Amino acid sequence: MAEKTIFKKIIDGEIPADIVYEDDQSLAFRDVNPQAPTHILIIPRKEIASIDHLSAEDEQVMGHLFLVAQKIAKQENLTDGYRTIINCGEGAGQTVFHLHVHLMGGRNLTWPPG
Ligand code: 5GP
Repeated sequence: MAEKTIFKKIIDGEIPADIVYEDDQSLAFRDVNPQAPTHILIIPRKEIASIDHLSAEDEQVMGHLFLVAQKIAKQENLTDGYRTIINCGEGAGQTVFHLHVHLMGGRNLTWPPG
């Protein structure tokens, strides 16, 4: 059996996280190393390693993650805008291989990201 990712351990309650939202399909918690005043990670409960590992049956849950992002942005009062990012693969900076949407806001976000 492959080693559980850190995010799977959070889903299973084996390590703590500052959870801001959860439902039957997803979980959202604050990033341990925030890059903005609000930096939240939204993950599917289903183990999907990355965008490269998506299949047709994941179409609904991917849309769901963005509706959750919208809900949390309201909850966090990100009225000046926010950014969602999904890194896919090591070359793009992905370090945890359980698909996650970064939701960032609360400061001026420049473009392009590094
Ligand atoms: P990636 O680089 O894969 O797109 O993003 C992984 C994110 O997970 C990073 O921003 C990193 O700070 C965050 N992270 C890594 N380990 C933990 C952890 O144990 N708890 C939390 N809350 N965030 C983590």
